[in-house]
Amino acid sequence: MNLSLNTCQQMDQQDPLRGLREQFQIPPGMIYLDGNSLGVLPRATADRLQAVVQQEWGVGLIRSYNTAQWFEQPHILGERIAPWLGAGAGEVVVTDTTSVNLFKVLSMAMAMAAQDHPGQRVLLSERGNFPTDLYMAESLCAQHGWQLRCVEAAQLAQHLTTDVGVLMLTHVNYRTGSMWDMAHWSEAAHAVGALAVWDLAHSAGAVPLNLKAAQADFAVGCGYKYLNGGPGAPAFVWAQPEHVQRAQQPLTGWWGHARPFAFTPGYEPAAGMGRFLCGSQSVLAMAALGCGLATFERSLPLGGMVALRQKSLALTDTFIELVQTQCAGHGLVLETPLAHDKRGSQVSFSRSEGAYAVVQALIERDVIGDFRAGDPALGEADIMRFGFTPLYVGFEDVWRAVAHLKDVLDAQSWRDARFAVQNKVT
Ligand SMILES: *Cc1c(COP(=O)(O)O)cnc(C)c1O
Repeated sequence: MNLSLNTCQQMDQQDPLRGLREQFQIPPGMIYLDGNSLGVLPRATADRLQAVVQQEWGVGLIRSYNTAQWFEQPHILGERIAPWLGAGAGEVVVTDTTSVNLFKVLSMAMAMAAQDHPGQRVLLSERGNFPTDLYMAESLCAQHGWQLRCVEAAQLAQHLTTDVGVLMLTHVNYRTGSMWDMAHWSEAAHAVGALAVWDLAHSAGAVPLNLKAAQADFAVGCGYKYLNGGPGAPAFVWAQPEHVQRAQQPLTGWWGHARPFAFTPGYEPAAGMGRFLCGSQSVLAMAALGCGLATFERSLPLGGMVALRQKSLALTDTFIELVQTQCAGHGLVLETPLAHDKRGSQVSFSRSEGAYAVVQALIERDVIGDFRAGDPALGEADIMRFGFTPLYVGFEDVWRAVAHLKDVLDAQSWRDARFAVQNKVT
């Protein structure tokens, strides 16, 4: 394949999803490859927030909980997310953060495991999981007298033994972009009597999901990455319907009560997923997430997630091929699987030297990727991450991003001292 600029421009012209990009406000000239960290701003969001502030809040005031459906928003948004997860009606609510929702579902899974298999008090996860997931698991294990067992991905099978009560995995790894087979590992967990808890932070809106067919037990995910809900957007939570009544969600705030406005003493959980709510939700943040979801819904007549996935794989294939041919000899090591069924919607390259500075040099050229430090104790190298959101990234963007990367490496411009200054958020 001859991947010239011209070829990439032709791929954009033939891309049936090309028009979806117009839904977003992307700064002119910017190539945004960080939608796996913070999605871009949908054009509709500012006007929508303005209306919520001026009309619903400014004029409607407290009445808007009823008249503008503020109270129902966690469920309304959950219904809109459910089809993208392969979940059914009434099975998803939008609330709180991924970390907090993980705390809720892990507590429930551990309580269920304690009832069904009291001897199985190990929570198994991947050592390279996203730190917040492991931090939350660590505290819960300490509270409940469980053991947290973190292993290398390649060793997961041999550590999934009959002492494991809960298997907790992030479906697409935040560093490498490699993807677990959800159905396979949920089944493997069940085979030893364990429950399977999935974090979909890098999956929702990025890859096709089928929680029900995969027989997952619980799932949580993020609103501000591929779902374009804005910085700090509310997260979502899903539970296998039979599990909802089985265990108590531990954060028993009034929004999860069966009758929050009866103000009765004594907690009584709501019948369905409502019990996963805790306190008042940010109405403004939920309104912005609604605009993010609308950008996905516009893809439905064009093939929805199947078409988005096809384009995402074509984008990541193109990027990998161009980097490997254009930047050969510069010490870039591909950390993302080549196999399509093992790849999410990002591509990571490690480099033993200057990975942070290379990313900074690219950002100065308006090519936005990001950097994740490796843990030398685990033999991890520093990683440059590039996310490819098929809703708004095109093939010409990919070509131009690689041309900049080649330039930065060939000219060694990344060595300039200004690119070594460490930011708080990388
Ligand atoms: C982004 C991400 C989170 C974020 O958690 P917050 O509570 O929203 O800050 C959690 N887990 C994974 C795997 C992530 O990628």
